[in-house]
Amino acid sequence: MKKQGMLMIISGPSGTGKGTVVKELVEKQQQFALSVSATTRSPRHNEIDGVHYYFYTREVFEKMKNENQLLEWAEFCGNYYGTPKEYVEQQMAEGKNVILEIEVQGALQIKKIYKDCILVFMIPPSAKELKKRLTERATEDEQTIQRRINRAIEEMEFVPQYDYIVINDTVCCAVNAICDIVKVEGMKSSRNINIKKQFKGEITSC
Ligand code: 5GP
Repeated sequence: MKKQGMLMIISGPSGTGKGTVVKELVEKQQQFALSVSATTRSPRHNEIDGVHYYFYTREVFEKMKNENQLLEWAEFCGNYYGTPKEYVEQQMAEGKNVILEIEVQGALQIKKIYKDCILVFMIPPSAKELKKRLTERATEDEQTIQRRINRAIEEMEFVPQYDYIVINDTVCCAVNAICDIVKVEGMKSSRNINIKKQFKGEITSC
């Protein structure tokens, strides 16, 4: 039987660069699968429907929510965001480590359902750098940037509820840190409960 994959959640202030790190991770490491979220926010100029997000109207999103098609959902800075359930369950059953890049309210909802999911909080090297990254990506107006900075301050309060902190100084180091976390988590005895049974079976037949 295939070993079930792990579920890893990556949260962190808007502008930290979570998206870039996660993209690099799934491109380089085949053991990872990235969940594409549903949202009611408008696409940015470089975003493709079905690749970066599924862009839906509020009506469609609410229908998905009511039909229990979402693993979690939350409102963030005036828009809905949610994780389609089917893909996550399918990929984990196939042994893939599924990555969700979601904000803190959704992360804590998932932790209640999947007790052994891994919560990672990604932060930029400094607050100054966060402001710089948010401004330089030029995808939001001044008011939205300020709203996201305020939300970042609120989100930092949730750090103690996360299992790991990764500082996104360079993409390469952040990707390596995530791979290290997955390696260590995979060695936990709680994730290898069949090892005793397997060993006993093998020792009697050799
Ligand atoms: P953005 O608008 O910058 O793409 O995302 C805003 C925030 O929503 C980010 O913190 C991002 O991680 C989060 N987010 C993206 N998808 C989901 C989701 O499916 N569920 C939740 N709860 N948050 C999400």
